[in-house]
Amino acid sequence: MATPLQPVRGTRDLIGEEFRRHHAVIEAARRVTALYGFEEWATPIFEDTRVFARSLGDTSDVVTKEMYSFEDRGGDSITLRPENTAGVCRALVSNGLTQSNLPRKVFYAGPMFRYERPQKGRYRQFHQIGAEVLGAAETLADAEVIAAGWDILVALGITDGVVLEINTLGDAESRDRYRAALVEHFTAHREALSHDSQVRLEKNPLRILDSKDEGDRRIVATAPTIEPHLTPAAATFFDGVLRHLDVLGVPTRKNPRIVRGLDYYSHTAFEFVTDRLGAQGTVMAGGRYDGLVEEMGGPPTPSVGWAAGIERLAMLLAASPAAPRPVAVIPVAEAPETAALALVKALRGAGIATEIAYKGNLKRRMERANKLHARAALILGESEVAEGVVQLRDLDAGTQESLPAAEAVRRLSA
Ligand code: ATP
Ligand code: MG
Repeated sequence: MATPLQPVRGTRDLIGEEFRRHHAVIEAARRVTALYGFEEWATPIFEDTRVFARSLGDTSDVVTKEMYSFEDRGGDSITLRPENTAGVCRALVSNGLTQSNLPRKVFYAGPMFRYERPQKGRYRQFHQIGAEVLGAAETLADAEVIAAGWDILVALGITDGVVLEINTLGDAESRDRYRAALVEHFTAHREALSHDSQVRLEKNPLRILDSKDEGDRRIVATAPTIEPHLTPAAATFFDGVLRHLDVLGVPTRKNPRIVRGLDYYSHTAFEFVTDRLGAQGTVMAGGRYDGLVEEMGGPPTPSVGWAAGIERLAMLLAASPAAPRPVAVIPVAEAPETAALALVKALRGAGIATEIAYKGNLKRRMERANKLHARAALILGESEVAEGVVQLRDLDAGTQESLPAAEAVRRLSA
């Protein structure tokens, strides 16, 4: 035998319960976002590298260290998407959707790829759900998209210990003032900053607030906050978002350190965090990105949205969703298999999950039914076929009765 191959480091197979948890997250998110009027989009999992290089900014961790980029056989630079907001904005522009029917509310779910050090809750192929409101500058949009995220957590029963940490990055003028204050602070501690943050100090000092380096974090702890630097308009905007969230019942905690890792944010920035996942405590994160669609070559299209790691949400689910329990049809020998197959077709036609045990004597086939955790068995021997009946065995109660096939189908669909 050949040496068995392993999955690539940082990738996982979703099988059995893991798949069901994953699926439960997506289904809950689909239901909730549909209530809010989001439509689901699927964009390609690889894009022109410029889609991400332009949007995420050249000082982001994602662009500097984490992208899976390669030249394809035609010589084009391609990147496996590390996130999907840029792809959605690119799609809005490429499909000519920037002028009509705004705002557009978009939901997506799918795989993302980042070259990171794999650990619990951090993978190289991971999955996100996400929601974006494209073409809305109003605080109602921020509040609605955040509330949709919260309602997904409610639907999944995982709000316990989760809180929305929220901040504002203000408008351009607030950020310019704030940047100057940060430069002053970090320059005074320049020597103690990590090499990465010394580079950020030149290119994008706000980014330092997001650093995971221990030494940086100590210097960040004493850094000025944005609030005193906000213009009155930016402060009013932030208050508006907080007021709406209060009405919508989303518990919030202001955290002036939330800046988000990506360059394209302004005004609202937020993370839903939990203390139940150790270091990987951010389950959902996003903000307002008023300049991104323009970066993609579209007109000014203020937008706001978030993305959430499906793996992290799935880990928070208390009970694993139950696997569906089928009905097992059991021909006791080969002769009744034809009649058994017709019965299987009728059951599935009636919307009942059904399995047929393929081989062996009655005992072997019953064992198979138990392995499948079937709720009932329909046993068909030659005499049953001759009489037009089946034996219906309730596999939980252990009771058995003989009845016409059509009656059994009716009974099992009740
Ligand atoms: P982190 O600080 O944990 O690296 P991030 O700021 O890079 O997160 P975002 O780009 O905001 O994360 O992605 C949104 C969400 O996607 C995160 O809050 C997290 O739940 C999830 N996520 C991000 N990267 C990974 C990964 N490598 N593996 C699993 N989930 C991830
Ligand atoms: Mg990251």
